Parts: sequence; structure tokens; C-alpha cells
Amino acid sequence: MELSKFSFGVGDRFNHEGNAQLKAIIKANDKGVEVTPVWNKSNREHDIVHSEPKGTRIEADNAVKTLGWEGGYCVDADHINLTNVDRFVDYCDFFTLDVAAYIGNESSSEDVAAFKKSCEVLGDEVNIPGIVEPINLTGELLETVAKKYLAAINEAGKIYRHIENKKGAGTFITEVSMDEVETPQTSVDMFFILKMISNQKIPAQTIAPKFTGRFNKGVDYVGNVDQFAKEFEQDVLVIDYAIKEFGLPENLKLSVHSGSDKFSIYPVMAEVIKKFDKGLHVKTAGTTWLEEVIGLAISGNEGLKMAKEIYAGALERKEELCAPYADVIDIDDSQLPSVGEVAGWSGEKFGDTLRHIPGHPDYNANFRQLIHVGYKVAAEMGEKYTSMLKKYADVVGACVEENIYERHLKRLFGL
Ligand SMILES: [Zn+2]
Repeated sequence: MELSKFSFGVGDRFNHEGNAQLKAIIKANDKGVEVTPVWNKSNREHDIVHSEPKGTRIEADNAVKTLGWEGGYCVDADHINLTNVDRFVDYCDFFTLDVAAYIGNESSSEDVAAFKKSCEVLGDEVNIPGIVEPINLTGELLETVAKKYLAAINEAGKIYRHIENKKGAGTFITEVSMDEVETPQTSVDMFFILKMISNQKIPAQTIAPKFTGRFNKGVDYVGNVDQFAKEFEQDVLVIDYAIKEFGLPENLKLSVHSGSDKFSIYPVMAEVIKKFDKGLHVKTAGTTWLEEVIGLAISGNEGLKMAKEIYAGALERKEELCAPYADVIDIDDSQLPSVGEVAGWSGEKFGDTLRHIPGHPDYNANFRQLIHVGYKVAAEMGEKYTSMLKKYADVVGACVEENIYERHLKRLFGL
């Protein structure tokens, strides 16, 4: 099973927006850019929403059937490890092996020696076309990268083989992710990570490093865009080298776990992949849930009432809701409106405050981040929430579709 050059991960907390999401993908395809939809949902999300991977599979299959989509599509077991992968095995055909927690763990001296030996064929110096600085393969450098990444990639090998034993080789797509960490990985790190992946014989088709800057949930990139551009380009060049020299899959490409809505770096990524004629996978997640809240708010009356209830619930339980996302949100409390203030808002005002239109006078990134992590409040409403999604499916679906097409796909693929 091969992932195409361009693919886009649509997360969907409540499994109601599959059709709207696929409609946006179809629009991009109609404009001549072949994009494969991937429905990603992490173990963490399933736990918080109390959903099962089977639901994501049903949602994806139904959307594909309803809209007559004939292209490829996948269901991604996002951020899984050995302790939870079995829950996903029967329903997914894309597995994101998250080994971030193993970075820096100790490896046996035999493993380290074997890794160092495997690097001997590379010589003392590696020059990657397009990158000025050569990599000097000193014993010290090899020790350092082994200390950082060897245990993590060996763990990825274990998870991969576990899935392969259950599903069969070649029947699923493998991603290796290490993005949920503090310290970014450099292109030199990437070089050795890919060497280790090759040593482990993991046929990775996508790789998700931690890039420089902050990838806060649901809001734009915070960091040095020029530095990001440089690192992104170097990673693309290292991957190209690794495909040729380490025998990794021809279609191996970067996967950007965007946390949704990294609009200011979308054009940067678009430019680099175009320049080198490379592929790209971008994952979004909560951006669709936020459109549901916007859709309910602008549908008025009971929808607006529920949107306000969700905000009030999220504000009251802010600490609890933010805790699992501590590293990926930055909320300035002083910029959060009070429940009393929001109570007086029209649906339009609520929607404009939440909708991600940078520069819009009402847009509030703090409000948006809080609602982003507030999906637990809606999950606890259960049927009460999902019945509203059904009732206002047209308005909500239009918001979801517009968001993915107009704000994401257009910027990413220059449509
Ligand atoms: Zn991630």
C-alpha cells in the first residue's frame, strides 16, 4: 500500500463531518491537485471522547461511498505505541508510531556498536546535495545520536513488526513520529534517524520530526519562519538522500503534525515541495471540531446557546482541560472574555471571535485555543451535542468544508 505524493489528515473528534471533509478534498482534486484524504484520530482523542477506531473507519467508508470517491483514502492510528495499538489494528491502514517518549533512553552496548558499525559504509564525511555543511561522522557524533535516538527507533521497529505480524507486510502505511517533544530535531538528527529506520527495516512512508517553533493547537505558527523554512528544506534534502542511499521507500515524505492552522508556514512548505518536486503530508485535528462550534453558533438560538455553554464549561474547567495539552497551548487568561460577556454575543460575534481569520478585528486566539481543548465538555454532553450536529448538519458541514478548502488546502497547494 502506497501513500500518494500529497495527502491531508483530517481529524474529526465526533465522526460527523466525514462528508464535509471529503467534499473539500474533492474540490482540490477537481482543481487538478491530487490529494489523498486520511482520517486521523489519536488514542488520546479516543480516550477523551470515549470513541473507538471502528467509528472512524465507518465514518471514512461512509463518506467515500456517499460521495462516490474513487481515489485512495486511509484511516490513521495516530500517535500509537505498543500498549494501545491493538485497539486500532483491525480498523486502520495507516499507523503513526509515536516513539517520542523513548528519546534519550539507554540502549545496550551491543545495539550501539551495531549502529556504529552500520555507519562505517558511509565513510568519514557525508555530503548531502544542496546542503553546504558536510556531516562529519566522528565516533563522538555517532555516540551522541545513538544516545538520543537509538532506543526510540528500536522501539519503532518493535511496534512496526507487531503490526506487520497482525496485518501482513505491505498492507498498511507506516509513519514514525517524534514531534511531541520540546527540542527540535536538526537535519543531522534526521539523517541518523533515517539510517536507524533503515537498519530496523521499517518501510516508513512518512516521518514527523519536531520542527523549530511552537505548534500550538488550532492557531498559527509561533516562531522564526525563516529558520523553519531552512530546516524544512534541509529535511527534504536529507530524506531525498536517505531514499537513495539507505533504500527507504521512494515516496517517503515529511509529515507535519500541524496542530491545525499553521497558515504562516503553509506557503513556505508549498514553495519547498514545489522547488524539489516532493510530496507532503499535513495533519490537522481540532480545526474541524472548532468549525462545529462555529456552525452551531451562527445557526442561532439553541445552537448558539450550546456554543456558549461549551465556552462556559471550558472556562470553568480550564486547568483540567489544558493539562494534557500543556506543551502545545499558550493562553493569555487576561484576553479570555467572561461568561457574562459572551452571554450577550450574537452568533456572528461568537463565530468571528472563534473563526481563524488572522487580522479579523474580532478574532481571539486565546478564546480559540480554550475551545480547542474544550471538546471534552461537548463529549460529556453526549447525544445532546451530537443531535445538534445532526440538526444543523448543513450549516456546520458548510463551515467544515469551507475551512478545509479555503483556509487549508488552498494555501498549502497554491490553489
Ligand atoms: Zn503529532
